Amino acid sequence: MTNLLGLDRQGLADFFVTLGEKPFRARQVLQWIHQRGVTDFSQMTDLSQSLRDRLVAVATVEAPRMIRESQSSDGTVKWLLSERGGSAIETVFIPETGRGTLCISSQVGCMLNCTFCSTATQGFKRNLSADEIIGQVWFAVRRLNELTDGEAKITNVVFMGMGEPLLNLLAVKPSLAILRDDLAYGLAARRVTISTAGVVPGIDQLIEGTEFALAVSLHAPTDELRERLVPLNRKYPIETLLAACRRYIEHDKRRSITFEYTMIEGVNDQPSHARGLRRILDGLPCKVNLIPFNPFPGTPFKPSDDATLYAFQMAVRSAGIVTTIRKTRGDDIAAACGQLVGELLSPSERRRLVQTQLAQQALSA
Ligand code: SAH
Repeated sequence: MTNLLGLDRQGLADFFVTLGEKPFRARQVLQWIHQRGVTDFSQMTDLSQSLRDRLVAVATVEAPRMIRESQSSDGTVKWLLSERGGSAIETVFIPETGRGTLCISSQVGCMLNCTFCSTATQGFKRNLSADEIIGQVWFAVRRLNELTDGEAKITNVVFMGMGEPLLNLLAVKPSLAILRDDLAYGLAARRVTISTAGVVPGIDQLIEGTEFALAVSLHAPTDELRERLVPLNRKYPIETLLAACRRYIEHDKRRSITFEYTMIEGVNDQPSHARGLRRILDGLPCKVNLIPFNPFPGTPFKPSDDATLYAFQMAVRSAGIVTTIRKTRGDDIAAACGQLVGELLSPSERRRLVQTQLAQQALSA
């Protein structure tokens, strides 16, 4: 059974050709699934009866199921969704004035082991498939409709939930196409953000591709410090990473990159770090987004206080870099990052997985 939820327009067209059908069926079915939310082929009334019967036999439209839902007093909603094989992932909706951002996961757990991230404590389980990634959006659109009577709308999607999207490009690419497709979610490029811990070959694979916003998790101005926070820095040090960012931007001058910088008390939040950041970002068209560290059980780290945050923001701004502070949302429901318990892999097993994943992507690129 093919789950049609994860097929983009091209994938659906190919699928219909294998059934001996016209490729334009893809357009109809995309709209039925993503815009009308119909999962039952028998209700797709502009398809012939024989095609509907055929689809029932060979395909499904199956979204993840909700295991748990938490609603924050600030309107943030977090879902724990069940994916195949009993895996659980998180999806979060964050309403703001004039927009609604859906934060989605790309993997079950994560391989990268960033020391300040709670997903890292869960280890890595597996990649999500495209239908499991888009299934989060499909589910959230419908559920928000029920919860808010059509009030809350998803205007932005960010790949900032569990996992590293650039280590799962095979599934992330068709998901991006579906998010952008006018017959599905029709989101403008700048409204879809991919966030990466700095997977350089992944950034290079995006250079030629379709447009969307790129966010890079920088968190430190020196290799010595960044290695402690983002172990992937040993493989792709800051200079290598920033060179990839420059290639990405130079390919199309309209592009810009957002650097994410999680502010951790006494670790990376001092005036010297702000100066270092200004220095390494000099001449790069970019924005900086400061994220107050979000504590989770067992972490030794603490968030920077407000005065430190503002001082840091001012210091980076003084170099002419647009610098924002991300509001913490959904604090009362632990919405920021994974708080689930998963199966743990040892650091060496995770390193091996990163290698395998990169090698597979390089082969398929
Ligand atoms: N793997 C991707 C996307 C997932 S994390 C990446 O690394 O970018 C999304 C963002 O949240 C990243 O910038 C990450 O560094 C940050 N983050 C992780 N744990 C955090 C925490 N406890 N508090 C604040 N930000 C955190």
